[in-house]
Amino acid sequence: MSKVYCKWCGSTAGSISSLTSGSCSKNPEGKNHGLYEGSEKSKYLCKYCGNSGSSISSLTSGSCSKSPNKRHHPAL
Ligand SMILES: [Zn+2]
Ligand SMILES: [Zn+2]
Repeated sequence: MSKVYCKWCGSTAGSISSLTSGSCSKNPEGKNHGLYEGSEKSKYLCKYCGNSGSSISSLTSGSCSKSPNKRHHPAL
């Protein structure tokens, strides 16, 4: 795995530990980035509403009416 992504904001890091030690402005559950555990894709779908984005950051930049925390959440 070359790059890891934050599932909340789409930030990238070179390792899981460096990703999750950074602070995330979009995480509704805490203050740090959270690991996106899916594979790299050309298109990311929100698991709640089906919205899509070409990157995690573009998907998560909008708000989701069907998600419990109002964030689009990339499906794995
Ligand atoms: Zn983040
Ligand atoms: Zn959504």
